[in-house]
Amino acid sequence: MRGKIIQALAGFYDVECEGVIYRTRARGNFRKKGKTPYVGDLVEFSAENPQEGYILAIHERKNALVRPPIVNVDQAVVIMSAREPDFNANLLDRFLVLLEYKDIHPIIYISKMDLLEDEEVLLAYAAVYEAMGYPFITQMSDLLPYLKDKITVFMGQTGVGKSTLLNKIAPDLALETGEISDSLGRGRHTTRMVKLYHVHGGLIADTPGFSALDYEVKTAPDLNSAFVDIEKVSANCKFRSCTHTHEPACAVKSAAEAGEIAAFRYDDYLQLLSEIENRRETYKKVLKRK
Ligand code: ZN
Repeated sequence: MRGKIIQALAGFYDVECEGVIYRTRARGNFRKKGKTPYVGDLVEFSAENPQEGYILAIHERKNALVRPPIVNVDQAVVIMSAREPDFNANLLDRFLVLLEYKDIHPIIYISKMDLLEDEEVLLAYAAVYEAMGYPFITQMSDLLPYLKDKITVFMGQTGVGKSTLLNKIAPDLALETGEISDSLGRGRHTTRMVKLYHVHGGLIADTPGFSALDYEVKTAPDLNSAFVDIEKVSANCKFRSCTHTHEPACAVKSAAEAGEIAAFRYDDYLQLLSEIENRRETYKKVLKRK
């Protein structure tokens, strides 16, 4: 049989197959091969009854998050507040780069719209991101249809109202994670139990914090392909390895000057690129010292 792991707890994996949940274990040979099943995995399994099954094989994964350990994530709702803290495009771009790199489709959700007196600036940003293919949502009712048939995670910095939004979308999740963290202590809960919740026809996870996705984009080409607007134009640069900084006949630089790429996006690209390069320099120096 084939199903999806929707919960992992203390060596047991709950696999959902055609609406039935089977409690399974991984055969010993998985551990010998260093393979661990994760929540989100599509697996082949056998089970005589729903209480007792075995995972036989794990299908190839399209991506993996580390904390919490969830694989095959389709999309992420990036929550940014309109005010308190103010909307921050630089921070948003950092989230987007990470998600693109992991092949997770971003959905931008703006919270605390009621605190915003003038929407004009935000609408200008909305136009830029929507042109890149990212939904830019300001109402919860507009978000819900996106959840159908997908595995979704929610992310955002502290104070943007992530819990408030999740409480509204999935009261069960809020209730259950609250109860478990109270009874077992937070640490044990976060390391042991990972679960996907059925919500509005899809599956959502209790969700990575900002630090959970450590910076994994390490090279200029990775960065280029994670900026979808820049990547699109970069095919027309004269040099294939163009970093869009100093090279002649750079299509990206021209497009930024002409306003075809938003100036703030190009600035964020340059900033992230220089951070990547600085990190590489530091790393080289450390190696030399050894
Ligand atoms: Zn270029």
